[in-house]
Amino acid sequence: MNNLTGFLTTLAVALPAAAAIYLGERWRLSRSDGPYAKADFSGLILLVALSAAWGPHLSGEPRLGFLLLGGAAVFFIAAVVDLLGWPQVLRAIGLVAVAAVVSYAGISVTTIKLPFTTTFVSLGWWGSLLTVVWILICALLFGSAASILSVPLGVGALASATLFAVCWLQPQITGPFTAFVAITLCGACLPQIAFAKLLSYRGATAGAYSVGYFIGALSILGALKNTAFLVALLPLIIVGVPLFAATFTYAADLRRGWRALAVAERRQHLHELLLSQGYSRAQVIGLLLAGTAYLCLLALLLVVLIEISFILKALIITVAALGGLLVFYMILRLLPRSASATAHPSEVRLLGVRLHAVSLDEALREAEQFIRQDQPHMIVTPDASAVVRARMDAELRQIMEEADLVTPDGAGVVLAARMLNLPVDERCAGVDMVQHLCQIAARLDRSVYLLGGEPGVAEAAAAQLKAQIPHLQVAGCHHGYFSPNEEAQIVEEIKQTRPAVLLVALGIPKQEKWINQHLQQLGVPVCIGVGGALDIISGRKKRAPIWMQRAGLEWLYRTIKEPRRLPRLAALPQILWITIRELLGRQPTDGPEDQSTPR
Ligand code: UDP
Repeated sequence: MNNLTGFLTTLAVALPAAAAIYLGERWRLSRSDGPYAKADFSGLILLVALSAAWGPHLSGEPRLGFLLLGGAAVFFIAAVVDLLGWPQVLRAIGLVAVAAVVSYAGISVTTIKLPFTTTFVSLGWWGSLLTVVWILICALLFGSAASILSVPLGVGALASATLFAVCWLQPQITGPFTAFVAITLCGACLPQIAFAKLLSYRGATAGAYSVGYFIGALSILGALKNTAFLVALLPLIIVGVPLFAATFTYAADLRRGWRALAVAERRQHLHELLLSQGYSRAQVIGLLLAGTAYLCLLALLLVVLIEISFILKALIITVAALGGLLVFYMILRLLPRSASATAHPSEVRLLGVRLHAVSLDEALREAEQFIRQDQPHMIVTPDASAVVRARMDAELRQIMEEADLVTPDGAGVVLAARMLNLPVDERCAGVDMVQHLCQIAARLDRSVYLLGGEPGVAEAAAAQLKAQIPHLQVAGCHHGYFSPNEEAQIVEEIKQTRPAVLLVALGIPKQEKWINQHLQQLGVPVCIGVGGALDIISGRKKRAPIWMQRAGLEWLYRTIKEPRRLPRLAALPQILWITIRELLGRQPTDGPEDQSTPR
């Protein structure tokens, strides 16, 4: 049995089959609204791919035939129960029967190692019982995770690849048969992961049960035992066992109280819990598979360290498990997720500072409403330094308290909000806001006024905006270095020209305080502080490359280009530190740091 040939054969069958069925389903669904094909292609692909690889070896190794027939029986039983809506218990009975036959055919646990010793005990008939229970548990756990088919397929591929690696590290214990089954199973599962979404109609679980059966049977081949537990059972527990939501729900939600959660909400699988928290399917699949991969690597490490003492091994597992959990938790906090899936209101409090949890689109819709109402409104777009400053500057904090819209601008704000489990999904960058606000004004046949920057900047920015946005009307421009005596005249000019949008670029907090002071006099429907946006739009300063913007590193780029901004960087560690303190419960959510007088 050549492992490489076996692996390539399963890949050669599973990959084109999965791709073809996926494309066919997409084409079919694009021509009509539904329904999904009532067939479980994933289980079929698995069986066909394994048959192709195992076929040439059946006469030399009859256990392969039994394994395959068992897999086909599991698939058939699970599919019939699914399609005909029979009681679940029939599926469990069928699985027990299949496992019993497979165990009788020689795929069975025969000995078990006593903990803390090197003694192996022969199990006799108890071995068959253990085999049946083990295969049943594996199949049921995989089956229960089938609502996202990529998860059982991915866990199957990772677990079998790891078991193959174990065979490679310990060939004398495991033998060539186990290695061959492991690598071919990996080859049959692996290429299906990407296509899984359309390989099984909603609710079909037969393919997942089959993967579970094969993994269960594989893990009792050879003497894998403890490793098998780590690579097969632990991920299965994670994906398959309903969790008590409160054990996972974030600290902030815990404060709402365990009793506040409905019973149905408490008993959810991890993937359901993550989906209900607003994470996308792709994120959930990635997280669960990354967790499985981590456990697999841990199992391999233990195999490599097989000689070391049990105490040391236990220590390694404990540290690695706790470290892994911490990283998992942090990743969950930092991933973007859809605010609509959470029940939080759009107004949130970030470290005591008022903020609206809106996307760019929502912020623009709101701004358009302001223009239509034709009443004075103020929008504040704080970045991390503004949030930190507002905690110490009572006037700025009060302005943000009363502003009509406070949008998150800057990676630091979004990061802190995510860590605090606030539904802030994306940053609304000032430059993007300016361009879109101008488009809205043009569409509504209204004008914009640009105030701020060094002499000539506002005019240059206006020219650029006019070139980009057809029909944009610019009511006027004025630089930002005016004396207090000139203020009244500037306000009067803006009032007379009646723009729909006033872009004020004087830097935070000067611009917010200026707008707040003159808002009612100006009467402009959308007054917004835009910081250095006019410098960028005018072309005087360059914006960070797209990849840096996407990675939330725009602040780094601006600091490199303008080293005078260096002191502002202090706001990032500051906001993270305040956030961590708040997470640890040292700081009440709406308790600002300092009540000092405004500057
Ligand atoms: N500015 C101004 N008048 C002032 C101080 C600043 O017009 O009295 C302008 C300055 O020229 C720059 C903008 O305000 O165009 C502030 O840019 P910065 O990048 O510092 O603002 P941020 O976006 O970081 O708030």
